Parts: sequence; structure tokens; C-alpha cells
Amino acid sequence: MALRDLEQAKQTAERTIEAASSALREVSLSIHAKPELNYEEHHAHAVLTDYLAAQGFAVERGAYGMPTAFKAVTGSGGPTLAVFCEYDALPGIGHACGHNLIAISGLATGIALKAALGEGNGTVLVLGSPAEEGGGGKIRMMERGALEGVDAAMMLHPSPGDTAWPAMIALEQVNVEYFGRNAHAGAAPWAGVNALDAIVLAYTSISAMRQQLRPTDRVHGVITKGGEKANIIPDYTSAQFLIRSKSLSDLNEVRAKVLGCFEGAALATGCRLNVVPPPGPAYADVSTNDVIAEAYCENMERFEMRMPSKEASAGLGGASTDMGNVSYVVPSIHPVFGIPTEDGAGNHTPGFTAAAATEEAHRATLRASKALAMTALDLYANPDLLKKAWAEMRR
Ligand SMILES: [Zn+2]
Ligand SMILES: [Zn+2]
Repeated sequence: MALRDLEQAKQTAERTIEAASSALREVSLSIHAKPELNYEEHHAHAVLTDYLAAQGFAVERGAYGMPTAFKAVTGSGGPTLAVFCEYDALPGIGHACGHNLIAISGLATGIALKAALGEGNGTVLVLGSPAEEGGGGKIRMMERGALEGVDAAMMLHPSPGDTAWPAMIALEQVNVEYFGRNAHAGAAPWAGVNALDAIVLAYTSISAMRQQLRPTDRVHGVITKGGEKANIIPDYTSAQFLIRSKSLSDLNEVRAKVLGCFEGAALATGCRLNVVPPPGPAYADVSTNDVIAEAYCENMERFEMRMPSKEASAGLGGASTDMGNVSYVVPSIHPVFGIPTEDGAGNHTPGFTAAAATEEAHRATLRASKALAMTALDLYANPDLLKKAWAEMRR
């Protein structure tokens, strides 16, 4: 696409998204009404792939050997840009991370680019990535070639505020089990080996250790099994912990300390510790590509959105995403866009679930999607911009 046609292409992108608003809203609400967990997103997978196929994309359902992943392609020639959809929910609280909105932001961006680019000006991939909430869907997809030939990747995420530089940090899950010995808690407690004591000791050791962590580190967990009955010394307990840090190397340091707490509790109580293999690979921090993020901010200004600078965004956040791993393979952005919530409810709360279904959140999603599509058009139209993005990535 010649650069002089860029403005026209951006207007086409905007019009296309606006015209699809009610159809996209229907898709969003349908996914919101039927929340599905990691790798079980069959309804969302069906709704999204049906939509893209009806729009003329070449759709591969169950892509990369994963039943709920998909790949939808349109356009031809280079460059190739990938836009990710997410659509998994959280146990008990449904779409409390608003992934129904991310799902339609991928559709909106995809159809806008299809209409604005035409043939021969570049290739658009809409990639459906399951299991962002801990399952590492994007990492598995990458291992199976999803990013081969891709020049840049992008996606959007709802949050209480807007920035193109969210501080999304590295994450790893550590699940542990303690094995002790049952005994009658009244008649012969000395015969028991108390697995609950082990987990409580580990929990309090980690709490004490937290004082020595950097402000950018996080360790948080829940006891998933604490015993059966007060009159039985528990012979089995389990816990799930998450460790987060600024980078994977910081994360490795914190993990060693956390494992020390678990081992110490085993020694103190005489229990056997089992560190369960994590359900998915560690998430890297998001390395936002400044060149592409700045283009996104400029495009958001077309909608009277003054975006905070990189400097002003530093340290905001503390959540994690498998988009981090993508961002270390190709230049990437993962801007967050604000949706109005009651009483300042943040992601992973029932208040956010409610907010993710509102008309206001839908409008905010479309606005951010328009800016994302325009940012992609900047990259398609201007090979130098993509070169700059890659030069920054190599640095
Ligand atoms: Zn989430
Ligand atoms: Zn999320």
C-alpha cells in the first residue's frame, strides 16, 4: 500500500469497525454469557471462527494441535502482522478479565484490516489464543510455529485505565504437596506427621520473606487442600502459589527463595515435599515495542484520547500475560484500555465481570480496536517503521 493512501485506509478501517458494532456486541455478549476455562473454550472458539469465516477469512479451527486455538488469514504478501484474541474466563467469577472484549477487539481489528488493505499489501493473521489465565496458550502456539514469518504482533486488554506501556511482569506458578501421616488428633497426635503444619509454616515463612523482596516482586498463594476433619492429623495438603517479577531472571531468584521456604517447612515437620510440575511454562514480562506503542498513542489521539507517556506508565500494573513471551520473539504491543467500572473494581473481581458486559465497555473496545487497526496500517504502509521496530527489538 502506498503511503499516500494511508489516510483513506484508516478511514475505511474506522468505518468498517463502526458498521460491525452490533454484530461484534452480539459475539461479545455470547462469550460473556458462557464463561469457559483454560483450554475448554469451545463455545468461544466456535463463535469467533464462525464470524471470521463468514467475513471471508481462511480459517483453521483447532489450529496448532490445540482444539480451542485458531488461525484466520486474510490478505497476501508482506509484511505479516498478527493480532491475538483471548477468550478464556476465570473460575467462579466468569469474564472478570474481560476477555470477551479482547476476543472482539481481534475480530474488529481483523475485519478493519481486511477492508482497508485489500490484496497484495500485506497479510493479516487473527490468532485465537486459548488459556491466557495460567495455561500459556500463546507459548504453546509459538512452539508450534504460530509466529513463523510474523513481523509484529499486537493485542488489546481491558483494564481500569489506559496505557500502551502496561507493566506486565514475569510469572510462574508453583504448586506443592506435603505428605505426612494420619493419626487421631486427640488419642495419639504424637503418632502423626502433620501436613497442615507444613503448609502453614511454608505460608508464614513466605510471608516473612516477603519483607526482603523487591517492590517489583510478588508472591501470593492459596491453600488448595488443608485436611479433612479437625480430629484427623492431615496426611496430605496442597497449595498453589504464583511468583511474579520484573523479568524472568529476577523471577528465578525469587523462586529459589520460595522453594527454600517450602523445603524448610518439610524439614521442620518431617513431611515429604513434592513440587508439582507447573501447568504451563513461565510467562515473560511484556517488552513493549516503543516504536509501535508510540504509533498506537498517536492513533488514539484521533479519538480525543491523551495517552500517558512511557515514563508516566512505569510501574503501573503487576499483572502478567503470555503475550510477554511473544514480545521477546517479535516486536509487540499489548496496550490496555480503560473500561468504566463501579467503585473502581479492577480485573479479576465480580465488578469487572459486570463492567465487561456494558455498552460503555463495548464502545471503549471499538475505539481502541480502531486505533490498533490504524497502527497496523501504519506498519503495512511504512516499511521503515517496521524496520525501526525491529532495530529497537534487537537492541
Ligand atoms: Zn486476567
Ligand atoms: Zn486478562
